[in-house]
Amino acid sequence: MTTVDEPARTGRKRTSIAPAVGPRALVVGAGIAGLAAATSLHRAGWRVLVCERAPARRTGGYFVRLAAEGVEAATRLGVEESLRTRLPVDGLITGVDGRGRTTSRVEAALVEDGVSLALVRGDLEAALWEGLPREVEVRFGTRPRAVSPAHGAVTLEHDGVESTERWDLVVGADGVRSTVRDLVFGPEGEFRHDFDHVVVSAVLPRLPGELVEGDYVVMVEPGRSAHLMAMAGHDPVVFFTYRTDLPQAHGTAPTTRPVEALRAVYGGFDGLMPEVLDLVARAGATHADTVGQIHLESWSRGRVVLLGDSAWCPTLYSGHGSALALAGGESLGSHLRVTGDTAPDVPSALAAWEAERRPATDVARTAARRARHFFLPGNRVVTALRQAALRVASQPWAAGLLRTAGRRSTRTGRPERVPREDVHRTVTASSGPGRRIAP
Ligand SMILES: Cc1cc2nc3c(=O)[nH]c(=O)nc-3n(C[C@H](O)[C@H](O)[C@H](O)COP(=O)(O)OP(=O)(O)OC[C@H]3O[C@@H](n4cnc5c(N)ncnc54)[C@H](O)[C@@H]3O)c2cc1C
Repeated sequence: MTTVDEPARTGRKRTSIAPAVGPRALVVGAGIAGLAAATSLHRAGWRVLVCERAPARRTGGYFVRLAAEGVEAATRLGVEESLRTRLPVDGLITGVDGRGRTTSRVEAALVEDGVSLALVRGDLEAALWEGLPREVEVRFGTRPRAVSPAHGAVTLEHDGVESTERWDLVVGADGVRSTVRDLVFGPEGEFRHDFDHVVVSAVLPRLPGELVEGDYVVMVEPGRSAHLMAMAGHDPVVFFTYRTDLPQAHGTAPTTRPVEALRAVYGGFDGLMPEVLDLVARAGATHADTVGQIHLESWSRGRVVLLGDSAWCPTLYSGHGSALALAGGESLGSHLRVTGDTAPDVPSALAAWEAERRPATDVARTAARRARHFFLPGNRVVTALRQAALRVASQPWAAGLLRTAGRRSTRTGRPERVPREDVHRTVTASSGPGRRIAP
């Protein structure tokens, strides 16, 4: 897996004022889940240390739509003020085939629910970072080498130097390739359900063709898609997903040589794609990995709990990974309140937290398993059906119906039911009909 991000302008150093009393929690990973958990645990009375293997805080990354549950959690954490949606509602979502021909076009306003936010991952991490209480200590360039779930003993390594300490709680928020999970629960292969897809993302130095801010272009052929977003106040972002069994992918090494792999897989595309590939080659990939879900029977063992993608990764196809990571981290503290200086019964609290969080993650993973076929059609028949569905969605009468349906579901204020509607919303958000996009 490759993950390359620009270091943030702020955050290489952070001075903290750790409190002297209270139980101690170690959070591994300063991503969305880790930062949300660190804040909520601090508020619940814990002394928190976050260790992050990267040398500095990450920025940019890739496009993330933060679903309603995530926006609500951000509000409870007090960080929603700095989150602004980056896809203007007057934008257009355009579907294009491999020959560069426009196959569908939808107004962005049609797929907006007025609640979820179109962001880059770095927006969320920056907001959580700004909101992180000063008392939370953060150590960059630091990773765990050994973890004992029964005693909470963790060996951390920084600059080749190892030290071991005991913690009342250890939170593994270190992503889908989690080291904490490997050390405590077992090798990833036991829990990973591979989709046999690759995902590569990049931040482009400029917009290709004649695209303007607000344009969202989806280039689709059987087994291959690319989503390009011209975001407000941010360099354009693009992500590619394709099947690993494509003949064009044979012999490529997407996780270590993503740019070469993209040229092999998308080299036959016409229209905007040649220019997009050149821009990716200039900028480099920010993320390159295979796509797979994580399924564990239990997310905790003794004093160790997994959180976010490390515990339940639903994949990008669910459109809910970041919301679940944020809400899961935010709710951890409410189950682990400290009374006086005494830690709660950690295993029981973690079991109660898991019982609360399980249903939403199950729904998101099921939705992603269904959505992957529509998101990345496997053959020409599914591709044609997808285009037909989007052409219907772009008709004025269908648009009216969808708008009304969207308003009605927002008004009811029901707890979010992620899957079907969202699958279609996500897919619609990645397409649209009409003219050829100028290369
Ligand atoms: C291209 C793409 C598009 C996506 N689109 C969406 C979307 O539209 N909507 C949505 O909700 N979700 C989306 N997702 C998913 C979402 O980004 C993830 O679910 C979310 O980022 C998970 O957050 P996390 O904090 O659990 O893990 P991560 O974001 O992976 O963070 C893990 C952190 O742990 C650190 N770390 C890793 N290993 C160690 C170690 N050994 N020691 C210390 N630190 C370590 C990492 O450096 C990182 O900072 C998308 C994902 C991708 C790849």
